Amino acid sequence: MIIVLSSLATPENLEHLTGLLKQRGLDAHLSKGVETTIVGAVGALSSTEDKEAFMGQLETLPYVESVMPVSKPYKLVSKQFHPERTVIDVGGVRIGDPTKVILMAGPCTVETPEQLREAAKAVKASGAHILRGGAYKPSTSPYSFHGHGLPALKMLAEARKEFGMPVITEVMDVRDVETVSQYADILQIGTRNMANFTLLKEVGDSKMPVLLKRGMAALYEEFLLAAEYIAARGNYKIILCERGVRTFEKYTRNTFDINAIPAWKELSHLPIIADPSHATGRASLVPGVSKAAIAAGADGLIIEVHPRPSEALKDGAQSLNPAEFQKLVDELEPIAQAVGRTIK
Ligand code: PEP
Ligand code: MN
Repeated sequence: MIIVLSSLATPENLEHLTGLLKQRGLDAHLSKGVETTIVGAVGALSSTEDKEAFMGQLETLPYVESVMPVSKPYKLVSKQFHPERTVIDVGGVRIGDPTKVILMAGPCTVETPEQLREAAKAVKASGAHILRGGAYKPSTSPYSFHGHGLPALKMLAEARKEFGMPVITEVMDVRDVETVSQYADILQIGTRNMANFTLLKEVGDSKMPVLLKRGMAALYEEFLLAAEYIAARGNYKIILCERGVRTFEKYTRNTFDINAIPAWKELSHLPIIADPSHATGRASLVPGVSKAAIAAGADGLIIEVHPRPSEALKDGAQSLNPAEFQKLVDELEPIAQAVGRTIK
């Protein structure tokens, strides 16, 4: 349920309310908006009557304006809990800012310090805000390359320092969350781990910004419940990412679900990033899907860029070269402006 506080509510009132919720085994999550303060009470009450009686009791409190049940199974990530859009500040980059398009770009995989430097230099020069690069790589085959791990994290941290860009990288294992958090600014949860609930709880506890990719066959509700796992641990710095889903089409690696962007905006307050690289699997299709995503209202893009895609250890076919990335950024700006945003 959500409890809307009166504008006159004091910190003592809030403490009182939190205590009442705790007695019932409920956790209190605070959503402070410009106009209203909302408390989300999450957890299970024993029965519907119990819930109704408790809601009635809370409504009589002088500092409570209203009490409402949340109809959706996900609560904290829902629009009801936080009517304003969430903006996540990562080292000065505002993800979710309605006037900005945020570009995350870089290689699928960190290969060598030189490769990463070249990629970082190029994407920064073209206007990217955040550097991406995989250190721990999920692979469908156990015999494929799995990333350089810790040495790659160190290369990312070096590039972050040299180019002054926050970095995003994937974490796949609960045992690595602490280490990855020391080197990265955003933790990425890949499509294959969207429903790894132990990992979701761990990144929730880390309180790091998290980019959560939709499972390749996940329903919106399943996806938003995965985000709820992170939020339920008190970490609201969650970025939703559409990266394409499995369909019967084989020409493309996946199918970009454009519906997801306006739908998630309707259902949730969290920022939305589109990944046209994994959605299409083809560099030639990345610009078109990028433009569609921004026109549909995405808050930004995550794009694979490699200095020489033909030499990439992973995902070369879907990686743009620096010139292609520059061209895309130039073409995106007028589309961003048409929807009230800018890349700069
Ligand atoms: C990636 O970003 O390189 C990646 C493996 O993405 P996904 O989890 O969407 O396949
Ligand atoms: Mn990749």
